[in-house]
Amino acid sequence: MFDKNYKIDDLMGFDEEYVLHTYTRKKIRFAYGEGCKLYTPCSKEFIDFGSGIGVCSVGHGNKKLAQDIAHQARDLIHLSNLYLIEPQALLAKKIIELCGYDMRVFFSNSGAEANECAIKIARKFGEKNGKIDRYKIITLESSFHGRTISTLKATGQDRMHQHFAPFPDGFMRAKDIDDIYNVIDSKTCGVLLELIQGEGGIFPMDKQKIQNLAKFLKQKDILLMVDEVQSGIYKTGEIFASNLYGITPDIISTAKGLGGGVPIGATLTRLKDVLEPGDHGSTFGGNFLSTRAGLSVLEILEEEYRSKRLAATIQNFHKYLDEMLKDFHQLFIEKVGIGLMCGLVARDEKIQKKIIDNAFDEQLLILKSGRNVVRFLPSLLITSQEIEEGFQRFQKACKNI
Ligand SMILES: *Cc1c(COP(=O)(O)O)cnc(C)c1O
Repeated sequence: MFDKNYKIDDLMGFDEEYVLHTYTRKKIRFAYGEGCKLYTPCSKEFIDFGSGIGVCSVGHGNKKLAQDIAHQARDLIHLSNLYLIEPQALLAKKIIELCGYDMRVFFSNSGAEANECAIKIARKFGEKNGKIDRYKIITLESSFHGRTISTLKATGQDRMHQHFAPFPDGFMRAKDIDDIYNVIDSKTCGVLLELIQGEGGIFPMDKQKIQNLAKFLKQKDILLMVDEVQSGIYKTGEIFASNLYGITPDIISTAKGLGGGVPIGATLTRLKDVLEPGDHGSTFGGNFLSTRAGLSVLEILEEEYRSKRLAATIQNFHKYLDEMLKDFHQLFIEKVGIGLMCGLVARDEKIQKKIIDNAFDEQLLILKSGRNVVRFLPSLLITSQEIEEGFQRFQKACKNI
């Protein structure tokens, strides 16, 4: 959908004049999409390997998702959490059945909010006789947990902290998994980490180390909180990376891919009774529209997973990544990531930037991650034709360095 009365320069002008300048935007106007293809108003076609930063998990213009959202919008969009919300109950049941964890779910509207809920659960869990006792949460260097004041403090990238002090107390930093053991003290109530750091370079944590840590934390009665805002909802080939790692976290937060583009966050926890009525809430969280979208997305992805199509897609995508690594070893050091949350580590920052820019010129959308990683987060329904076409463009982008 687009308004023919406006030219792109008019719209860029409005954006410049009326929208806060917190983003540097590319001058491009997309009007509609189909699967992993995006089109400008004059039908110039792009291939999308970024899916809105891992959000459009079932691609663009998905007919079932669009229909389910439209039907729900016609019936009821929102009623507040004062009344039963049918798709919310059904979505919670679906997520829990698919991941197999004995947990309950709280719904919010974003990844940061999903982590806020996780932090609140950990803080209340750490209380003793209703008073502050254990309250410290350990997070890792290069992590990303969100942009609210507490999740920003949790985020292990100091450059993002500039200008926004003072922050809430109780967030401790560990350099890596091994260092967590050094940072834990008698006031630690939880460890919050990503199994694959999405913004920090797509480097997966070592499975054995994570399993050892999970065991150790259980013994110490310290919560293992896994931020699956990016890695969750089948990005790694399993509904949660936690399933792939063979661990049972105390808390999992997720968001990005869950609503297929409709804002939704979810916090799953084994601690079913720590939060009580009145302890936490959200006006919009879990409303009819967003949970219907989540349900629709999970129905689509469950089928993709069970039919083994998702595993085949992942294998196919990685075949191309391996080829690119081989053909352009002067540009890339290694392949990183798991499943469709993956990347190529560029030899330096300049190469990373140039490849992403060149890819855009070839009408291919890809993302950056960390200092020097070219990141791929395509829709989980990406077709082999789209993969092939996308990598042809990527190849051209690399040749033009
Ligand atoms: C994107 C992201 C967040 C923040 O999600 P928002 O929806 O932008 O608040 C938190 N954690 C991780 C791992 C993410 O990738």
